[in-house]
Amino acid sequence: MKIDLHSHSTCSDGLLSPAELVERAVLRGVDMLALTDHDELAGLEAARAAAQHWGLRLIDGVEISVQWEETTLHIVGLNVDADHAPLMDGLAAIRAGREQRAQRMADSLNAAGITGSLEGARRYAKNPELLSRSHFARYLVEAGHARDTNAVFRNYLTPGKPGYVPHQWAALKDALGWIAGSGGLAVLAHPGRYPLNQQQAEKLLGEFVELGGAAVEVVTGSHTPEEFVVWARYAKRFGLRASAGSDFHGPGEGYRDVGNVPVLPAGCDPVWSGF
Ligand code: AMP
Ligand code: MN
Ligand code: MN
Ligand code: MN
Repeated sequence: MKIDLHSHSTCSDGLLSPAELVERAVLRGVDMLALTDHDELAGLEAARAAAQHWGLRLIDGVEISVQWEETTLHIVGLNVDADHAPLMDGLAAIRAGREQRAQRMADSLNAAGITGSLEGARRYAKNPELLSRSHFARYLVEAGHARDTNAVFRNYLTPGKPGYVPHQWAALKDALGWIAGSGGLAVLAHPGRYPLNQQQAEKLLGEFVELGGAAVEVVTGSHTPEEFVVWARYAKRFGLRASAGSDFHGPGEGYRDVGNVPVLPAGCDPVWSGF
C-alpha cells in the first residue's frame, strides 16, 4: 500500500488541479491520497470524482493555519466532513484574513521597492479566496527578484525580511474543535519546521494531546530521515499516532513528489490504520 496523506492542489498553493493531482498520484502508484489544501475544502469534490474514476482511495483533508503563542503551526485534518458548518465557517474566516494579510504583505514589499506584488500574486492564485505566500513567491521570481521560490523565502516573506507581516491565524483549540467536530483526526504537520526548542515542543505536544490531537506527521518532505526518528519518538512518548505525507505542491517544487513517502520508523502507530 502506497500512502500519501498530505498534498496540495490549485485550490490552495499547489500547481495541479485536484483531478491532475489525483491522476499523477495514480500514475505514481499511490493507493491512498489525502488532499489537504491550506484552509480550503473546495478541491475535494473534483478530487473525489477523479479518485473514483481511477480507483484511488481519497481521504478528505485540509491543512489549517494556526497561531500558537509566537509560532504559526499547520494542523492537517484527515477524514473530515467537508459539509461540517463550523469547519467551513472557520476556514472561510481564515481565508478572509489571508486577503487582508496579502494587502499588508504588498505594502511591506512596496516599502522595499517591490511594486505590483498583490496583482502579481493574484495572477498565480487560481482560487481568488486563497492568497498564499507561495503565490507572492512565484511572482517575485517572475519579476526577477530571486532565482527560485526557495531563494524568495530566504530573502523575503519570512520573519525579519521584506514582505513578512505577522498574522493572527486560527486558535489551536478552535482548529482542533472543527476537525474533531467534523469526525476527522488532527495531525500536527511537519513539526520539525517550527522554530521551537525542546521545552516548547513538549509544551505544544502536551496541549495538542489535551485538546484532542490524534497524530504527529513523522514522515514529511520537510523532515530529514534523522527527524523521522526524532518525531517518531515524540509521538510515542505523547501517545500520539503517526502520519506520513509528501506535502507535494507541484512538479519541480519542493523535495518530494506525490507518493514519495518513506515508511514510518518502527514502533509507530499509523494514523491511517482505521481508514
Ligand atoms: P502561507 O500559508 O500563505 O503563509 O504560505 C505558506 C506556504 O509557503 C507553505 O505551505 C509552503 O508552500 C510555502 N513555503 C513556506 N516556506 C517556504 C520555503 N522556505 N520554501 C519554499 N516554500 C515555502
Ligand atoms: Mn503550501
Ligand atoms: Mn504546511
Ligand atoms: Mn502542506
